[in-house]
Formats: sequence, structure tokens, C-alpha cells
Amino acid sequence: MTMMSEETSGADSVSVDGDGIDIGMSSADIDEFLKGHYYDLFKSYIYDRGRAYYDAGKVDVPEPIAKDLWHAVVRGNDDYQVDVRLQRGRVVSAACSCPYARHSAYCKHVAATLIAMAERLRRQRDQEQGIEPEFPRDASNMVRWYIGRQFSFSARLSDDDWRVIKHILETLYGFPDLETIFRKMKLDLLGSCEPGEAKRRRRSGQAATVTLTQQRNEALYRRRPTDKPERNLANMRILVPGFDVAHLDELPHTWMTILEAAYERLHDAEGLRRLYMYYIVIAQTDPEAVYVERLRAISGEHWAEDRDEIVRLQRTCRRFGMMSAVNPAYERLVREERLTDEAFDYCLTGGMDDIAIRLLDVLAQNPESLDRTLHYFRNVLKDPDSDVYKQDDAASAERVGRWIRKIDTVIGYDEACSLAEHIVGMFPQRKKLRECLADYVSEVEDPPEFDDDDWNDDDAADDDGDTDDVDKSDSEDEESAAGEDFGGGIRRW
Ligand SMILES: [Zn+2]
Repeated sequence: MTMMSEETSGADSVSVDGDGIDIGMSSADIDEFLKGHYYDLFKSYIYDRGRAYYDAGKVDVPEPIAKDLWHAVVRGNDDYQVDVRLQRGRVVSAACSCPYARHSAYCKHVAATLIAMAERLRRQRDQEQGIEPEFPRDASNMVRWYIGRQFSFSARLSDDDWRVIKHILETLYGFPDLETIFRKMKLDLLGSCEPGEAKRRRRSGQAATVTLTQQRNEALYRRRPTDKPERNLANMRILVPGFDVAHLDELPHTWMTILEAAYERLHDAEGLRRLYMYYIVIAQTDPEAVYVERLRAISGEHWAEDRDEIVRLQRTCRRFGMMSAVNPAYERLVREERLTDEAFDYCLTGGMDDIAIRLLDVLAQNPESLDRTLHYFRNVLKDPDSDVYKQDDAASAERVGRWIRKIDTVIGYDEACSLAEHIVGMFPQRKKLRECLADYVSEVEDPPEFDDDDWNDDDAADDDGDTDDVDKSDSEDEESAAGEDFGGGIRRW
């Protein structure tokens, strides 16, 4: 799979990664790369966006395609092709197919790719040198910050304190028994709505408006005397006098983050595994997709087992309408693990449209899923009454453009063209629609001029129902960085 030139396969100049893939970099080059000099090539906010893209699992594993030349696909609402050229472990040039990269090669997709390369190379180096990956500390750091803000005394918690905290929170939540947690949530959810509504939800499996976490937190915050003792916060108040739960939402998963910190402190990998699995099943935002990677790192030999368990829980929960339509962490899992059937199931229960477009490359791996998906999109796109054409505005037109570009990658350019011609034929008055399909329709007498505004294509249009924290306000910020040169070191090729 990897193309290597003769001279790079010499015994000491070559590094072989965990899968036995020859990546053609000496350990000195890898060390140089891992120093992270490439950070200076980016505006810091662009780099941060790249980091967010990486965490959200939007980068396919970068591959060396020739000596010192790496390639990756970064998946947003569009797919972008990224190439990075290295020399002795330093980045000498980069290219990306996104609109922003027309002005500066060092866009967020390139940053995301470099971060993904660094992760891959670091893992490989650690493996070679027998270095154990560090035990996570994120939650402990957050809880330390939180305690510092909430309490005037400095809380020095011993391992015994953490054991008590872990015990109380595990009892409160029913950890680590995920099966029971989700069964209880299902009952809570069904119990909390009208009998007719409960029945309808059970039958339809439609996404519930009340999310699991909300539901759970509400149940925990409610202090009714009739509640079972483990539901009562009194325990926590005795443990931490003056504890004010109102500010707990400053922690990403409220109580769960404190439980996570306890697992971290106690080096309880088993507990962390169950907690990460839970986070993945209930995830709703892009940043939560980071737990797929964290779970993979901590699961080790249990990875396949954990992955299958997540799929099972996710399927059950979605069937009962307990999940929001979009779960970026689950999308990351099905993409990275190439779980075609699960992807199809997920698209069906989430409502096809943009979800299926995002996962089209995964769906395409199974001819039957691909056929059904394409059948759906052909029908939708050829029907002038489809929702996608309801609004005659730029966002809708760009959405159709993205769909056709994605579909092009699986049906081929010719059919994409005939589909685009058909669409333009249905709406001859819609100029923006024609513009967005310009790559696929033959020129008209008055061709649209190049418009710098099509940076807006760059994933900024948040019209896809994607709860996408990463992408927000990209366009303005990147536009403001437009035309600015980063100075030396930039070469397009
Ligand atoms: Zn880019």
C-alpha cells in the first residue's frame, strides 16, 4: 500500500510502524517532527481548529505515499485532500483542496493532518521503545481547576478520599453496569412522558427531545424526600460541605467528570473504559468524539469487545428514541472501524440526508447499503418538492452542491453531471444553485464570476443539523485571515 523508493529501505534509516508498514522516516527525523515546529506555520486559531478537527475524528489516518510525502483526507461537509511534504522531519510544504488553501496552504485541514501524523508517529515511537502510554489526566486537571474556583480552602484529596468519591458516584449512577444504566434511563424517559407519547416513542424509535444527560441530571438534581437514598445528594454534601451543584455544569459531564477524575487518580482503567463507552453512546457534539481515541488507547486487547458493546447499546437506545439524531462520536467509531451495517442503521434512524452524506464513504463499502443510499438520494434530488429545495437561498444551494460533490465520489462524474443538469433544469431561475453546481453543468451564456465568498463552503454553513461546535464561525475568521501571507516557508505545489 505504501510506495517506497529503493534508497529509503536501508536497515537503519527506516522505521516500521505497529502494523509493519514501512513509513520511510529515520528515528532522528521522527524525533525532529515530534518537536512540533510546524505549529509556527499556522495562525494559532487555525491551528486550534485543526486540533478540534483531529479530536472530532475528521482525519483519515495519514499515509506516506512517497518518501517524505504524506497524504490524508479530512472530512468535513466536504472531503478535502491534504498533502504534506517533509524534509528531515520538518514540514517544507503543504497543499489542501479547500477554498481557504487557495490563499494560504496552511489551513486547518493541514493542521489537523499534521496533528494526526504526530499522533501516529508518537504511538509508533513509544511502541518501539516500549514506553507505556501515559494514563489520562484530563478529568483530574479539570476537577482541580473546578475545586480551586469553587472553594476557598485548598482541597488535597488522598487516594482514600478518591476511593470514597468513586464509591458514592458509582452507586449514584449504577456504574460500571452500563446495561442497567441505560435500561433505567429508558424507564425514566418512558415514565416521564404521557402514556400515548411513551407508546409512540417505543413504536417509532424517533429521537427524543429530552436527551439522556439532561434526563439524568434533572433526576439527580431533583431532591425529593421520596427519592431513593442513592438519588439523594446529601452524601455529597456531607463529603464536601458547602457544595453547590449549581456550578457543576462547568465540568463537561458534571458528576461524571468527577467520577472520571477518581478513575484517573486511582489508575482504574476498567472504570475509565466503561465511562468512555458511556460518553460515546450519549455523545452529541464534535469534541466528544475524542473519547473514541481515548477508549482505543485504554481498552488495549479489549478494544473489539468494547466497540461491539457500544454498537449494541447505541442500537438499543436509538431504537427506543433515547438518542439525538446526530452522534459525532459514534460516527467517528463507525468510520474508523469501517462498520458499514452499523453506519447504515445509524443513518436510517437519524434521518438519511446529511448524515448519510457524511458517512457515504463508509456506506459505499457494502454494495447493498450503497444501492439503497443512492436510490434515496436520486429520488430526493430529482423531486422538485423535496425539502432540500424548499428554501431558495445560498445555504440550501451550497448544501445541494456538497451532496453532489460527495455523491460524485461514488457514482462517478458522468452521472453526477446528469443529476446536476436535471436539478438545474428543474430550477432555471436559481442562480446560486447553478453556481454551486458549476463543476457539473455545462456553461451558460452568463457564467458566474469567481466569487471569494465561496470560502463559506468551507464547512461553515451550519445548515445540516450537525451539532458541530468545530465548524462554527469558521468562515468569518478565516476570511479575516484571507490574503495575509504567512511569510517564509510556504510553497504550493
Ligand atoms: Zn484546507
